[in-house]
Amino acid sequence: MCIFCKIVNGDIPADIVYEDEKYMAFKDIKPKAPIHILIIPKEHIEKLADIDDVSKNVIGDMAIIANKVAKQLGIDKTGYRIVINNGPDAGQEVYHIHMHLLGGKKLIFAS
Ligand code: AMP
Ligand code: ZN
Repeated sequence: MCIFCKIVNGDIPADIVYEDEKYMAFKDIKPKAPIHILIIPKEHIEKLADIDDVSKNVIGDMAIIANKVAKQLGIDKTGYRIVINNGPDAGQEVYHIHMHLLGGKKLIFAS
């Protein structure tokens, strides 16, 4: 079972900031900004490239949750960035699709 599925199951602890029936959002263990949250579907989907017509709502749902969490954490006015890494060149480390929500400072574009 992948590390994020273990968080969903409660086998690994996480600092959860949002949860519903289908999704979860928790603090990144190695934050790259003052606010760094990961939003995941509870369903195991490996990566963005696996999103199809059936699963496309996952992307929209994660974006709505990112907006909610940004508001909850008080960065809705100052701004934030969402990132989805897909595959090795993007540096995807965990092969369970997730959206990064980054904010709390002026972000520099990192390639
Ligand atoms: P990515 O490179 O897009 O696959 O991002 C994976 C992210 O997951 C990294 O930013 C890691 O710091 C984060 N991460 C890995 N393990 C955990 C964990 N157990 N709890 C919270 N975040 C994690
Ligand atoms: Zn998983």
